[in-house]
Amino acid sequence: MEAQRTCDVLVVGSGIAGCSAAIEAARRGARVVVASLGATFSGSSFYGGTWGLGLVGPSGEADVEDFEQTIHTVGGGVANPTLVHELVLGVAPAVRWLEEMGVELKYPTDASERAYIPCFDHKTRSWHGVGRASLKDTWSREFAQLGIAVLPRCELVDLVVRDGCICGAQLFSHEAGAAVSVACPAVVLATGGLAGLYARSLNPADNAGSAQGIALAHGCQLVNAEFLQIMPGLVRPKAGIVVNEKAFRYSTLAFPADLLEERSGYGPFTTRLASHVIDLAIAQAGDTGLPLGYALPHDPPEFVQTYFSWLERAQGIRATNPMRMALYAHASNGGIAIREDTSCKGGPAGLFACGECAGGMHGADRIGGLASASALVFGRRAGVEAACLAGGAAPVHWDGPVPCASASSGTKALAEKLRHTMSAHALVGRTEEGLTAALDAVAAMRNCLQEGESLHGSVQGLRLAHQLRAAEAMLGAMRARSESLGSHHRADSGA
Ligand SMILES: Cc1cc2nc3c(=O)[nH]c(=O)nc-3n(C[C@H](O)[C@H](O)[C@H](O)COP(=O)(O)OP(=O)(O)OC[C@H]3O[C@@H](n4cnc5c(N)ncnc54)[C@H](O)[C@@H]3O)c2cc1C
Repeated sequence: MEAQRTCDVLVVGSGIAGCSAAIEAARRGARVVVASLGATFSGSSFYGGTWGLGLVGPSGEADVEDFEQTIHTVGGGVANPTLVHELVLGVAPAVRWLEEMGVELKYPTDASERAYIPCFDHKTRSWHGVGRASLKDTWSREFAQLGIAVLPRCELVDLVVRDGCICGAQLFSHEAGAAVSVACPAVVLATGGLAGLYARSLNPADNAGSAQGIALAHGCQLVNAEFLQIMPGLVRPKAGIVVNEKAFRYSTLAFPADLLEERSGYGPFTTRLASHVIDLAIAQAGDTGLPLGYALPHDPPEFVQTYFSWLERAQGIRATNPMRMALYAHASNGGIAIREDTSCKGGPAGLFACGECAGGMHGADRIGGLASASALVFGRRAGVEAACLAGGAAPVHWDGPVPCASASSGTKALAEKLRHTMSAHALVGRTEEGLTAALDAVAAMRNCLQEGESLHGSVQGLRLAHQLRAAEAMLGAMRARSESLGSHHRADSGA
């Protein structure tokens, strides 16, 4: 049976961006509901495949200009200056906000250590480590105190829009096995990036990448969607664990020391630097992965030590164990185009987007530690803006099919095919021919789905329809970028 709820602000997603939005909106008196496909406190923000998250900002006011300039340089000139400015100015207040709430942040013992130079950056900045446990404990208390209602395992199926304004959303509760309608004047999308569209992904399964497709269906635009971070991760002894880039210089890989040194300066693949040949070798090794060994110094730098201690404690893997690594889809640098108040360009009034599902504040390559920063800064802003719309919520008029949970084997097979198509053609080694083949495959899948069960309203069929729309936009942006670079350039990510 379908459940009905009413609130002022519906936040979709409970990673860093969604939780920040929910807390800010509730502190302004809004009645807030947080729905997430995963558990409450999920997404990349709470993913167990790494020790925690680095959070980076300018080291004081004197550093603001250099930091902004570096973001634009590293981003290849495609970041939006207004959003970059907002982001950079918002980090220090966001760090204070976390600490005042009681979140325990990690500080470097020696902040000038070169391992604390953020990925792709040229100098150290203000660095903090964010641990999942402290974040979750603090925010659980905060949610309870503020009366924020949560709907875990509850998926956004569509937005309800009337006369160009948000008036609610249609959800599906995987816990109850039933549809849920929410009437509200504001929806905040905080649903994470597009890496979940790939078979080899470092994202948790609940990062569906469908909300970008829903946003597109309601007139929103994607910006910089072609720029995806592609990261080396372990495939053995355990898959889905991030390889710490700072330790490349201590690896036994058969590459010259200067290339390994350069590769230690950044996590995701880029075409801008000579050391990308290391990634090409990893890509060539395919699913089996490239063998990886380490000869760590007796007293490794703190940052490297933190990673290997976590690897042994949490994953049972020692630096001396034989390992293999492959390239994974990791995080989006682009997403739903937003204005500085986080409202969605081209979208209905009352729709906001923040965190990794939103784009414009990063360029082609992104300085490490700025994804968590962006989720905090724009998440807080979205909560403040959405709360301003608190008041009457019109009744929901959902005229689409009421979703149910009955995916056919055909839908499951198509979803699997999409993930494999993306991994085959839209990771490292992209070509115009490959991207065109992927776009043709996506079009064929859409036809197949339309003839099949999506019209009958299975939640998996509806999700796949949105994922296919998002994938088509992403692949189209990749192909357009490759055409604009000319045929002598590669179409891979990176500036
Ligand atoms: C392994 C790893 C390491 C990383 N390390 C760093 C780092 O050190 N520094 C850094 O800055 N960044 C890092 N990142 C990136 C960073 O973690 C993310 O960009 C950031 O946490 C995203 O936060 P978010 O709140 O926007 O989305 P997420 O944390 O991904 O949350 C997405 C939420 O949306 C929900 N959701 C998705 N689709 C739907 C739907 N249709 N309906 C309902 N709910 C939905 C999910 O269940 C989840 O709750 C890392 C990412 C990974 C994967």
